[in-house]
Formats: sequence, structure tokens, C-alpha cells
Amino acid sequence: MEDRRNFIKTSALATAAILTNLSKADAKEQKTGNRLTSVKPVVLSTWKFGIDANAEAWKTLANSGRALDAVEAGVKVIEGNMKERSVGLGGRPDRDGHVTLDACIMDEFANIGSVACIEHIKHPISVARAVMEKTPHVMLVGEGALQFALSQGFTKEKGVVEESQKDWKEWLKTSNYKPQANIENHDTIGMIAMDANGNFSGACTTSGLAYKMHGRVGDSPIIGAGLFVDNEVGAATATGHGEEVIRIAGCHLVVELMRQGKSPQQACEEAVARIVRITKNRGKNLKDIQVGFIAINQNGQHGAYCIQSGFNYAIYDGSGNNLVDSDYFMK
Ligand code: ASP
Repeated sequence: MEDRRNFIKTSALATAAILTNLSKADAKEQKTGNRLTSVKPVVLSTWKFGIDANAEAWKTLANSGRALDAVEAGVKVIEGNMKERSVGLGGRPDRDGHVTLDACIMDEFANIGSVACIEHIKHPISVARAVMEKTPHVMLVGEGALQFALSQGFTKEKGVVEESQKDWKEWLKTSNYKPQANIENHDTIGMIAMDANGNFSGACTTSGLAYKMHGRVGDSPIIGAGLFVDNEVGAATATGHGEEVIRIAGCHLVVELMRQGKSPQQACEEAVARIVRITKNRGKNLKDIQVGFIAINQNGQHGAYCIQSGFNYAIYDGSGNNLVDSDYFMK
């Protein structure tokens, strides 16, 4: 009886402590323009096309499906849109005219799969999932990734879409490689979700920076850089200049900062601050760089931060599917 009383007392105290912490966090998040989502599930994706991706992911999440299935289905919508110039086969080519795709996926058990520099495949995210589920490895690249995809029944698609070819031929006239912040020569769909059971997964897929060197791989297929999930903590994903995200192991950093007690908003801000510091120390111009992070934690809090204005993300929770402008460093 005494034990039971103590248990009840301890539980009540613990609940009160959690509620106090939540309301403190809530107040803080509201100050930064972000919300506390008390209802699971929730899904977040980078950029405006995240709205369509979220809508697809929500079909799985709303039916108590697994976050892993939701994020794969969600980003496939954008990969499959041939009008999209920065994700999937509709993406802009590298400087040699090849459309090379990068993608990775991570689930609640820290299972991971990734493909980089893969060509002719409509849904690299599904190949990444197949790497995760059907091989002893975590990452396949280039021709090997394509061969594996074909062995798994994926279809080899041909050519580069006409619009992308036109853009490339135009670019060849100057061959000036200077990826700019918020100019539509890049963008990635990074999606992170918590399902009704409170489990996290994430997916990230891109055609990378337009007119990159052939063979260049960005942050998006690199676990810990473009995406990271830790079921005890939360999840984060990134978009922007991949070299800068890789330099700080960006999404792993965001998740580790959350583990140390930072809110998702604080964690994203600190990761951006680190890129800012490093960029300045390296004597590079911050104006030329855009990086954006989005993150969620176990309480359903979310956050986002980027270097320059112009980055937005979509969040779908109990209150609907909304596009939100991210706060930014360079004011
Ligand atoms: N992060 C991607 C890359 O570096 C591009 C982007 O998100 O804009 O390949």
C-alpha cells in the first residue's frame, strides 16, 4: 500500500514536472513563432512542395501507419513530379548533362539506407529503402546503386527532361558555377515525421546542386548530414548548400543538441550559428550560402532556422497542413 502511495505521488510529481516543462517550452516556442504540437502524428517537410508531400504522408499517419512508410510515400510525390527542377528525374543536370540523384532514409530503429549519384531512377528514396532492408550495407553509389536498383525490379528511365536540357544548354554558354541562395538551382525535399505511436522516421531526396561536378555528392544522402533520426530524441533534416551541412555534420548536431535539452528551435539556431562562425573563420562570404534546418522532438515541438530569408517549410499536424516562413540569421 505504502509502495503504491509512493508510486502515485511520484507519478503525480513527474507528470507535474513534465507539464511545467512543456508549458515553459510552449511559451518559448510561441515567442519564436513555432508551435507546440500536443497531438501525434506530425510531419514536417522542407520548402513549399512540402505541402503536397505532407498531404500524401498524412494518409499513412492518420491511419496509424508507420512514420517510415509515411515519409517514403510523401517524398515520392515530389520525386515523381517531372516539373520539379530540384528533386528526382525532372531535376537539373550536372555540368556534363547527367541528372544524378541522392537520397537517404532512416527509421526509428536506426536502420539506414542511402543512394548517391544514381541515374535513371524515378524513386531513389525507394532504392535507399531497399538498400536499408535488403542489403548488408547502408550506402550504394553510382553504377553500383543503379545495378542494385535494377536487380530489385526498378525501371531504368531514359534521358533528361526537355526543360532541364534547355536550362543546361543555356548554362553551358557561360559555364559559371555559382550556386546562389534561394535561386531555384537547388532545393531538397527533407521530411521528418512522428507517427501515432510516437516513433520517428525521416527521408531526404534531391537532384543536388545544378551544374555540380559529375560525381559530386551533397549532404542529402549522408546520414547525419542531410538527415538524422534518434527515436529517443527526435529528428532533423536539412536543405541548402550541402558542402556546408556536411562540414558540421548538421542534422546529427541538431539532434544531439536536442538530446542535451535544447528545443528544436534552439538546436536549429545553434547549428546555423556554427555554420556562420565557420564560414567567417574560413574567410568565405556568408551571403553566398543558404542552409536551412527543420527539427522535431519527442514532445512534438518543432523548430526551423536558416541563414538567409526565403526558406519555408510545411507542417501537417492536428491543425492542418500549413506553410511556415522560417526565421533566419541574416537580418
Ligand atoms: N542540399 C542539397 C545539396 O547540396 C541541395 C539543396 O537542398 O538545395 O545537394
